[in-house]
Amino acid sequence: MEDRIFTSTAGEAEQEIENCLRPKRMTDYVGQTKVKENLSVFIQAAKKRGEPLDHVLLYGPPGLGKTTLAHIIAAEMGVSLRMTSGPSIERAGDLAAILTQLGEGDVLFIDEIHRLSRSVEEILYPAMEDYALDFIIGKGPSAKSMRLSLPRFTLVGATTRAGMLTSPLRDRFGVLCRLEMYSPEELGRIVSRSASVLGTSIETDAAREIARRSRGTPRIANRLLKRVRDFAEVMGKSTVDREITDKALGLLEVDALGLDNIDKLLLTAIIDKFHGGPVGLDTLAAAINEDAHTIEDVYEPYLMQLGFISRTPRGRIALPGAYSHLNKRVPHSVTEQLNLFIPETEEDE
Ligand code: ADP
Repeated sequence: MEDRIFTSTAGEAEQEIENCLRPKRMTDYVGQTKVKENLSVFIQAAKKRGEPLDHVLLYGPPGLGKTTLAHIIAAEMGVSLRMTSGPSIERAGDLAAILTQLGEGDVLFIDEIHRLSRSVEEILYPAMEDYALDFIIGKGPSAKSMRLSLPRFTLVGATTRAGMLTSPLRDRFGVLCRLEMYSPEELGRIVSRSASVLGTSIETDAAREIARRSRGTPRIANRLLKRVRDFAEVMGKSTVDREITDKALGLLEVDALGLDNIDKLLLTAIIDKFHGGPVGLDTLAAAINEDAHTIEDVYEPYLMQLGFISRTPRGRIALPGAYSHLNKRVPHSVTEQLNLFIPETEEDE
C-alpha cells in the first residue's frame, strides 16, 4: 500500500513536501483557467466591498489542487486559513469551537466535507447563512434556544464529488468550482516548476514524459518526479533525462498512458471476468480486491477520461479503447451491446 503511486491521499512525509511545492498565489497556480478567472473576479469584488468572500465549494478527483486553491484564496484575500476535515470533526461542539476561534474574514477549509455527520452539518447551516451559532440551553419546558454571533468567514469546502453532498449544504455555497484534469502541457509546467523548487535539474522531454504518465493529476506528477529523481541520484546522474525517466517509470510499472497494475487488473476483470460488463461497482471491487471508493475516486475518472470505460445505469462497461490498449480483440457481441449504451450524436438525428 505504501508504495502505491496512485493513492488518493498524501502520507505525512509527502504532505510536508507537498506544502513546499504548493504555489502560493493565483498567478503561480497552473491551469484551471475558468476557475481561476471566476475566483479572481469574486475575490476582487469582495475586497472592494470590504466583505468576506462567498462560501466556495471545490470539487474534483483527489490531487487536482483543491487544498492548494484554498490556501491561495486566503492569501489573495489577505486573511488566515484554518484547515480541518469532515472525518476529524466528530461532535457538533468540535465545529462550534473551531468557528468561534475564527477571525473576521478568515477562511475555514473543510476537506472531505461530504463526510461531516448530520449533527455537525446542521451547525454549519446558520453559521454559513447568518454567521451565527444556534444552541439550546437546558432541557424540557425550561429549555432556551440561544444564538451566538460568529465572525464573518468564508467556508471553502472540498469534495471529490459534489453529488455526495446533501442538497441543503450544497445550496449554501455561493461559488461552485469543478476542477478538471490537467493537460500534459500544464502538467509539464508543474513538473518543471516542482523540479526547480526541489533544486533538481530536469530536461524538458523528461518533464514532458512524466507529465504524460501522470493521469492529469499534479499530485501524481510530483510523486513521479520525486521517484525519478531518487532513481537519477542512485544512478549518479546530476540531471534527470529522458532515459532515466523511462527506466524509472518502467520499474514503477507505470505504462505509457500512466496506467498501473490496478488499472489493468480492473480493465481485465471487466473484459474477461464480466464479458465487457455491465458490472456493478461493488462486484467489480470484490473481484479485484480493491476498495469501491478508491476505484470510484482514483481509478475511474482517468479511465473514463481516456474513454476506456463508461458508467451506465446497469454498471461499468469496457469500451473498445480498453481492449486495444490491452491488445485484446473487441468481441462482436460487445460492439453490438455498446450501440445500446452509446447515445446517438446530434449528427445522427
Ligand atoms: P487536493 O486537495 O485536490 O487533493 P492538493 O491541493 O493537495 O490537491 O495538490 C496536490 C499537489 O499538487 C500539491 O503539492 C500541489 O503543489 C500540486 N498542485 C495542485 N494543483 C496545482 C496547480 N494548479 N499548479 C501547481 N501545482 C499544483
